[in-house]
Amino acid sequence: MESQGESFDALIVGGGLAGLAAAYTMAAEGLEVLLLERGDYCGAKNVTGGRIYINPVRELFPELWKKAPLERPIVHEEVCLMGRKSSITMRYDGAELKAEPYQSYSLLRGKFDKWLAREAERKGAMIVTKSRVDALIIEDGRVKGVMAGGEELRADVVVAADGVLSFTARQAGLQKPIDSKNYALGFKEIIELDPEIIEDRFNLNGNEGAARLFMGDATAGKFGGGFIYTNQSSLSLGMVVGVDALTENPDIKAPDLLDRFRERPELARLIKGGETVEYSAHLIPEGGFKAMGELWGDGILVAGDAAGFSMNIGVTVRGMEYALASGYYAARAVIQAKQKNDFTRAGLAIYADLLNESFVMKDFINFKESLEVLDYPRLFKHYPELAGSIMKDLYQVPDGPKDKIYATLKKYLTMSEIGGLLKLGRRMMKI
Ligand SMILES: Cc1cc2nc3c(=O)[nH]c(=O)nc-3n(C[C@H](O)[C@H](O)[C@H](O)COP(=O)(O)OP(=O)(O)OC[C@H]3O[C@@H](n4cnc5c(N)ncnc54)[C@H](O)[C@@H]3O)c2cc1C
Repeated sequence: MESQGESFDALIVGGGLAGLAAAYTMAAEGLEVLLLERGDYCGAKNVTGGRIYINPVRELFPELWKKAPLERPIVHEEVCLMGRKSSITMRYDGAELKAEPYQSYSLLRGKFDKWLAREAERKGAMIVTKSRVDALIIEDGRVKGVMAGGEELRADVVVAADGVLSFTARQAGLQKPIDSKNYALGFKEIIELDPEIIEDRFNLNGNEGAARLFMGDATAGKFGGGFIYTNQSSLSLGMVVGVDALTENPDIKAPDLLDRFRERPELARLIKGGETVEYSAHLIPEGGFKAMGELWGDGILVAGDAAGFSMNIGVTVRGMEYALASGYYAARAVIQAKQKNDFTRAGLAIYADLLNESFVMKDFINFKESLEVLDYPRLFKHYPELAGSIMKDLYQVPDGPKDKIYATLKKYLTMSEIGGLLKLGRRMMKI
């Protein structure tokens, strides 16, 4: 940064997907944009499980997807219900998963964000890394810029894209008070492995990719789940666990959970001989619509995880498309506000309209009950064990006569068990 008191059309705090999407979109329209990222480079501090769904954001960035450094298209899906000593896996191979354009890919943020930053710079955005924003400049209740490294930087509008627990959104008074039940802790490692070994172990042809999700004993029966995704020459292995599940059970330590998970035979065989080259941990805002604060104010817009745009509905954990899309819509709102030269809360309200019309708010409203529905202890402990016990008896051939299948099922599916399952079904109807 060269001079004090320099002024821009827009200042973006955070160079993750939300911030970079905003920078790319505004710069493409000729706006003067400065993005400040505290990491050594964009992608250095960003954690994700590693799977992006392209469809909802394909048209927002039509030029980008052809050349994006994605890892493998995900064409095989597996969900595994883990008991302590058993597991039941459902594999899904659909012709549509294998058809182009692929709906989802594995990716590595270190590579992807760095590339997206270069693309935004090509459009004319200024990106300064190793630069932490320390405070917002707020005058007469309106955000006027930021303080970074002792310098004052001014802009018509600030985009808060500084991720979960966004201090900029908080300083602007836009966030709701933090409640631990609305957050999960995600931790993961990247394990390098020869591509041919990956393809062999996951039954993949060439560049095909696979995603496997695990629930139940993967998280020691706590609210959350484990995952493994195939990259070109590495695996992303990790898990997401509710913060409350960890704090309420102090004997359960996150690193121990991951060790326990990777030692399970279902995982150990897949990662054998691989070298862990990266370990990371990060919070995820999972509170959804009910936990969201204000998304915009006088001179400020909030995008990505900073706005709470992450969602866990069990079969998918999504945040990256919401980050990209909200960054894009924040940029479009700024572009329109600039045409009217109105950066007040009223002038920036178009951001809410754009989000409401898009998949972003429609998804968050549709799934507003998902956290309450899924935070149901029986789902993560009792049912995986029950399913394992039923399978054990169904498959076992004893040394005497074998029970009828109906008798076996009846042994486990008692009236109270069926009542419990119906209750679960009723909960599930909300999402
Ligand atoms: C373990 C895990 C698994 C996940 N799995 C998936 C998945 O498979 N698919 C999916 O779609 N989503 C997944 N998510 C969620 C997804 O990764 C996030 O929703 C997404 O990264 C949010 O992007 P963002 O740009 O909003 O925030 P971030 O990527 O967190 O970017 C925020 C940026 O702001 C910078 N920053 C913060 N404070 C400052 C400051 N004061 N000054 C300057 N810079 C600052 C940070 O360094 C960072 O680069 C997962 C998350 C985790 C943790």
